[in-house]
Amino acid sequence: MVTCPRCGQPAVYAPTNPARPFCSPRCKNSDFVAWANEEYRVPDASPEVPPDEDIS
Ligand SMILES: [Zn+2]
Repeated sequence: MVTCPRCGQPAVYAPTNPARPFCSPRCKNSDFVAWANEEYRVPDASPEVPPDEDIS
């Protein structure tokens, strides 16, 4: 038995549990979605340049 990294519930760590180390496929998918969202978050490559010539 392991602790589900998603919800903290005890999860069966065995070939009978296809979602291991998660407790259920729902937890597995939920974690994957969160991970995918992080991956797809594109960092802002354009640095904001303050318009310092705006003072008149
Ligand atoms: Zn879980």
